[in-house]
Amino acid sequence: MSEQNNPESTAPVRSLDFIRKRITEDVKTGKNQGQVITRFPPEPNGYLHIGHAKSININFGIARDFNGRCHLRFDDTNPEKEDMEYINSIQADVKWLGYDWGIHRYNASDYFDKLYEYAIELIKNGKAYVCDLTADQVREYRGTLTEPGKPSPFRNRSAEESLVLFEKMATGGFPEGACTLRAKIDMASPNINLRDPAIYRIKHASHPHTGDKWHIYPMYDFAHGISDALEHITHSICTLEFEDHRPLYDWFLDNITIDCHPQQIEFARLNLTYTVMSKRKLLQLVKENFVSGWDDPRMPTLCGLRRRGYPPQAIINFCNRIGVDKTNSTVEIEMLEYYVREDLNKSALRVMGVLKPLKVVITNYPENQVEEFTAENNPEDATAGTRSISFSRTLYIEQEDFREDPPKGYFRLSPGKEVRLKHTYYITCQEVLKDADGKIVELHCTYDPESRGGSTPDNRKVQGTLHWVSAQHAVEADVYWYEHLFSKANADDVPEGQPFTVNLNPNSLTVLTGCKVEPGLANAKPGNRFQFLRQGYFNVDLDSKPGHLMFNRIVGLKDTWGKAEKKQK
Ligand code: ATP
Ligand code: MG
Repeated sequence: MSEQNNPESTAPVRSLDFIRKRITEDVKTGKNQGQVITRFPPEPNGYLHIGHAKSININFGIARDFNGRCHLRFDDTNPEKEDMEYINSIQADVKWLGYDWGIHRYNASDYFDKLYEYAIELIKNGKAYVCDLTADQVREYRGTLTEPGKPSPFRNRSAEESLVLFEKMATGGFPEGACTLRAKIDMASPNINLRDPAIYRIKHASHPHTGDKWHIYPMYDFAHGISDALEHITHSICTLEFEDHRPLYDWFLDNITIDCHPQQIEFARLNLTYTVMSKRKLLQLVKENFVSGWDDPRMPTLCGLRRRGYPPQAIINFCNRIGVDKTNSTVEIEMLEYYVREDLNKSALRVMGVLKPLKVVITNYPENQVEEFTAENNPEDATAGTRSISFSRTLYIEQEDFREDPPKGYFRLSPGKEVRLKHTYYITCQEVLKDADGKIVELHCTYDPESRGGSTPDNRKVQGTLHWVSAQHAVEADVYWYEHLFSKANADDVPEGQPFTVNLNPNSLTVLTGCKVEPGLANAKPGNRFQFLRQGYFNVDLDSKPGHLMFNRIVGLKDTWGKAEKKQK
């Protein structure tokens, strides 16, 4: 058994991905005594998004599958950017996905003392030097992809001198930018990461964990690989953009005294259509009020998807389905929606809700009569039980379920036409009432008492079945109807010189007020999820209260992705 408590995968078993194949091989050959230790290393400078879920599911999922463990490590090498709000949200989001790091929660800053010692070791061995070039000069000396770099005039500074200067850097003896500590590797390397990269820079910033102790902070590239090694991570799994950094991480570990050398393995980032995945862009959407916050249900953030009503298991199933690959690509958002729908179809209770109500009076139904009908809560789940639905003389149906002049093939209600009201009776439209402006305000219909329960003795067929609610029993609700956040599938595709926000979909949110829902929903709690018949899946919003119900539309009923996939097959 794994020592951590992690969710089962419910996705069909697929062949092992390339990372798991490799780890299986390592375990077989007894590498790391057969142990598997991974980590998820977020920088606490934003909220996690669905792309991070892919990484979380790979790292924690592998730890589970190989009876190992996965660490949560906050990469807090950048003192100014960290924020408790981000740390708390990241922890909550990982747990929401069902994963648990147990006692293995660390910070890169836990290792600042050790990193400093390793830097001194490098200096003493002539493998690092303090360089006084300015940032611009460093760039100039670095060369390009086609031209080798030039050595810094400080490259051959003695170890003794560098040691004195480095200590002065650490204790605040220099202004910011005055100098850096650089690794002495190879200014002519075709891999620019190896052209004497900076490993420490001066920053007179106080750090949330180490306070004012340091006036220098390690660069991510120096801290990251060494932190992995200090935690005895066996497989350091990261995204493709770090492939070119791997030789640098290997160089650091080969040139210091350390007893562990994690194997880095890279995989492709997740990109999704109709959204953006860059933290910088997501932050901009929040800061500039294009959305209501990090947890706006249109955001691809995990807290946004949670508020929207996405079940965590649907996200895990999606991540399992997309698997792990080595080339960057973009996944259709419809595939994610498919897994949300698949999960909710099994779990969400069915109810009736009328979003744009049109009043219907059943003129031949007794004034004060109320009848109760029994309906299944979920036809997919017998254990979900049944509920009672009240029928009365005045009802609401959906405005779009009536057409005065129906086009050919319109199966819903129109003058003289008969339809079924779900679970109850057949009704026929007799009269259309309009206001002074010609707007339809009410329909007068008759019902057939013999059609009770949805069929007639003469087996008469009707083509349409409408959802409805009884006017005197209905409760009011607001419905937040969401569409994609961006109008373009490739949201990052913007005309030159324009901000990415030009691609925002102006119709990504429509608020519908005065919607009418079944009375049983009056006490629905935030997070409860329902299928509104014929309308889609809805989640009770965080801000919903009895007396002011708010629903988020999670996803519609129509599956475009699954259908397209079937067609392809
Ligand atoms: P930044 O540019 O701020 O570093 P980041 O997206 O890399 O942003 P991190 O907090 O560093 O954010 O990410 C933590 C982990 O999640 C990293 O290991 C990173 O590789 C992984 N990750 C981030 N975005 C994605 C994505 N779209 N798909 C898969 N993994 C991702
Ligand atoms: Mg990163």
